[in-house]
Amino acid sequence: MQKHEEKLDQHKEDIEKHEQKIKQQQNDVEKKNEDTKQEQKSEEPAKEKPSEEKPSGDKPNNEQPKVQAPAGKVVYLTFDDGPHAVSKDILKLLKKYNAKATFFMLEPNMKNYPDAVKAMVNEGHTVGVHGVTHQVSKIYRSPASFVGEMNQAIAFIQKTTNVQTHLIRAPYGSKPYVTAPFKAASDKEKMILWDWNIDSMDWKLTNGQYVDKVIQQTKQFKSKDPLIVLMHEKPTTLANLEKLLKYYKDNGYEMKALDEAMIPVQFK
Ligand SMILES: [Zn+2]
Repeated sequence: MQKHEEKLDQHKEDIEKHEQKIKQQQNDVEKKNEDTKQEQKSEEPAKEKPSEEKPSGDKPNNEQPKVQAPAGKVVYLTFDDGPHAVSKDILKLLKKYNAKATFFMLEPNMKNYPDAVKAMVNEGHTVGVHGVTHQVSKIYRSPASFVGEMNQAIAFIQKTTNVQTHLIRAPYGSKPYVTAPFKAASDKEKMILWDWNIDSMDWKLTNGQYVDKVIQQTKQFKSKDPLIVLMHEKPTTLANLEKLLKYYKDNGYEMKALDEAMIPVQFK
């Protein structure tokens, strides 16, 4: 018992460190992109910044999705980097608003909160994976390491819940790291890679401003793609989540979980 608690504390520290690192890296990407901004639709990596990915209002959307978003207003809430101690409270809120969501999780966190993973499945949410290390130098070292981390996390979900998921989300999004060889390797494993088109920036906007940011992007959304909102399983996200759920409910949106038949939204 004691040991377990120590482990948990240690883990919390690790998460803190991990998040600092994520912040630093995202800041770096952000800086890089200040200079090179939008305009060019280049294939060059690091130009397209995941967190700035706009709901393609200013991009021609020539590729009609084969599966149209269902009639009526639907939004797909997604949560990365969990599970976390706040998972159970996130689930409680989702239930209160009759909302389903999708969770892209890291294997070490699932090991720490296996009950959260089970609860997600039992309550009708969709579970997907986000790898193991969340470290650029490790997961993106090679296509094999990318696929290996995803498979390791997939195996944990399988073992824990009996669900065989194919849904993956690349740490920091598919641009710039998931180049053609990485994509080919994950395609070969039948993995379905999901990016997003509404970035809450909740990792940065820890005082609740992320909610307004999501609402604003929702109002401006013009693409025919499904609305995919990126959030994280964090205490500061939970603290303001109800306001967002209330907005979607009051405005007639159905909050649904991703399913594997959908054509995934991916950065172009
Ligand atoms: Zn992440």
